[in-house]
This record gives sequence, C-alpha cells and structure tokens, in this order.
Amino acid sequence: MIRACKVSLAVVTYLILALSWGTFMSADAKETVKQATFGKMPDGTPVYLYTLGNTQGMEVKITNYGGILVSVSVLDKDGKVGDVVLGFDRLEDYLKGHPYFGAIVGRYGNRIAKGRFPLGGRTYTLATNNNENHLHGGLRGFDKAVWKAEPLTSVEDAGLKLSYLSKDGEEGYPGNLNVTVIYTLTRRNELRIEYAATTDKPTVVNLTNHSYFNLAGSGTVLEQELVINADKFLPVDKGLIPIGVLQSVKGTPMDFTTPEKIGERIDQDFEQLKIGGGYDHCYVLNKPGLRNVAAKAFSAGSGRLLELFTTEPAVQLYTGNFLDGTLKGKGGRIYQKRSAFCLETEHYPDSPNHPAFPSVVLNPGQKYSTTTIYKFSVASSINSR
Ligand code: BGC
Repeated sequence: MIRACKVSLAVVTYLILALSWGTFMSADAKETVKQATFGKMPDGTPVYLYTLGNTQGMEVKITNYGGILVSVSVLDKDGKVGDVVLGFDRLEDYLKGHPYFGAIVGRYGNRIAKGRFPLGGRTYTLATNNNENHLHGGLRGFDKAVWKAEPLTSVEDAGLKLSYLSKDGEEGYPGNLNVTVIYTLTRRNELRIEYAATTDKPTVVNLTNHSYFNLAGSGTVLEQELVINADKFLPVDKGLIPIGVLQSVKGTPMDFTTPEKIGERIDQDFEQLKIGGGYDHCYVLNKPGLRNVAAKAFSAGSGRLLELFTTEPAVQLYTGNFLDGTLKGKGGRIYQKRSAFCLETEHYPDSPNHPAFPSVVLNPGQKYSTTTIYKFSVASSINSR
C-alpha cells in the first residue's frame, strides 16, 4: 500500500515537473514537445507556441492560433539548419492579417463561387471575402480560431493534437463540426498532418494547410524545381473559380510531370498563367495515397528536397503571386512576390457547385479523415530519391 503510494507520488511529481517545465518527452526521452507562451488574443485568451523536435535535428513550431505552422527548420546539404516556411516571429503580426501563412484552412479550403452552394434541397449562403467569392473558410475561418492543444508523444514521434468546434452557422456553414488536426514530426523527418471531423448536420468540408515553402530559406522560389504527379489541372475563370472541366497539362507551361524550375515558364503568354498572375491552380493527382509521391520540390542551392504524400485527390499550387513586399516576416525578411510556393492538398475548389467533382459532403455518422505528409531530406538532385 505504502509502496503503491510512493510510486503514484513519484508519477505525480514527474508530471508536475514536466508540466511546469513545459516539456513533454516521449518514452525514450528523445522526441520532445515544448510549450511556451506566444501571446494573448485581444480578449485576453492565452495563445501558445509548441516546439516539436526530433533526433535528426529537425524542429517544427506550431501555434494553437489558427493551428499555424510558424517554422519548419531542416538541415541543408552543409548540415546547417534553416527555416523553410514563411511566417512571423510574433502573434501580434499574425493578428494584423496575413495570407494564411502556415494556417489550417477550413471549413472549406479554396474558393466557393459567390459564397453559395446547394445541399439537401436548400441553398446555403456563406461569408464572401474574395471579391464575390468565399475563400478559405470566410472572414473568420479556422486560420483565425484558437484551437485546444494537447501535446502527444510516442516512442518515435512528437505530436500536437489540435481541436476546434466550428458551430452550426459559423460563416454560413450548416452543422456543428468537431475538428481535430494532429501534427506529427517523425524520426524520418516527416511532418504528418492528420485531419478529422464529424458533424451533426449534412455539411461540406475541405481542410488543408497553407504553408508557404521556400527550400532555400530566402529569395524567390523561381529557381527551385518542382514535380507534380498530375496529368490534369482545373482551368479557372477570372475569379479563379474552376470552369468545371479537367484540362491536360501536356504541351503547356502547367506541366510539372517532369522536373521544371518554378520560374522557367511562369511568365509565359498562357491564358491560365495570366489569370493567376502565375501558378494558382488545382492539380488533379494521378495516384493519391500515402505510398505515392504527389509532388516534390528541390532547391539545388540548399540541397533540400521536399516530398509530398496525400490521401487527397488534388493539390493547389500557388506561387505567392499576391505577395508584394509589404509584409515583413521572421527576422525582418521582406516577403516579395513569388518568395514561396504552397502545395495545398485538398478536394477540388468549388466542389459543392460541381456535382461531377468528388464529393465534399460530410453527413452525420460519417467521419472525415485525410492525411498529408511533408517529408524533408537532403539530395543531390530532385531525382536522386
Ligand atoms: C489561393 C490564392 C490566394 C492565396 C492566399 C491560395 O490558396 O489559391 O488565390 O491568394 O491562397 O489567400
């Protein structure tokens, strides 16, 4: 009895110490999750910054404000650690507004035309925040929510579980949606993102992460190479809404089925590139699933290779065309046009208005569940792995 008390006292003491240091360790005390204060919301709600570290020198910082991936630090070919995503050092800068740097985007990532869609014999009207269209969940999407956060560790992984209840009617969407997003940093230098959701009324869901990658850690991404395993993309109208057909990339500057520098053809006189001001298009993946590389990107200067895997059917390539040098990011860096690329894994934009597109409807009793993996390594070329 006394022995049992002593043991439980030791466990309680350990937990208190671990909590007060703000450090959570996995079983073999290697992968770690540290918690620090990041700031306060205008109403006083505290916001935290979680640092996930692995044994390979990779580190990821996530805040529970918007579930934002604040930094992703990975080694380069010289063994130097560098941050490969855009963002800010302070919560205040995120609160001032930004183009979804690193954020979890929802309830519907990407655009819904005119902020309207039919479901179950009714038409729902959403907040419009991109001219006449609805973009990335509306005026107060998941990127602006304060998520409940729970550090997770296992033998080989460090993780963070984020939860959020999006109430019935929020931004015009039907149904109370319970959302969880789990970020996991593995020992294989993978950042895995698992999205899950359930609803109490039929609704539409399309969750993604909006990280802006620059594998060199500075400058533009025009020299960085890209492959997207997609033979087709969705051509868009002037409002960047899909016109409803799938178009072959073959023979066009949209083709990334073989390695191409992002900047090689970006300014060509090709209507779709003119509309987007560069790449801002949804690519339909040839082979979705975690066993197949959906896309990969490479910086010859840094030797960093990023490989993307996803269960989602598509990926939006956005080349930071609307960045214009007015945002000052981490370390005072000015974010100029095309200083990053986004690979947003998702269902097709405006799917609720296109019955022929894969469905984004979630019904009560069903579970929304998707996974995306960003894997980092050092390579001598984009094809060397
Ligand atoms: C969209 C862009 C938009 C950017 C920032 C991307 O996902 O495709 O058109 O400008 O997000 O909001």
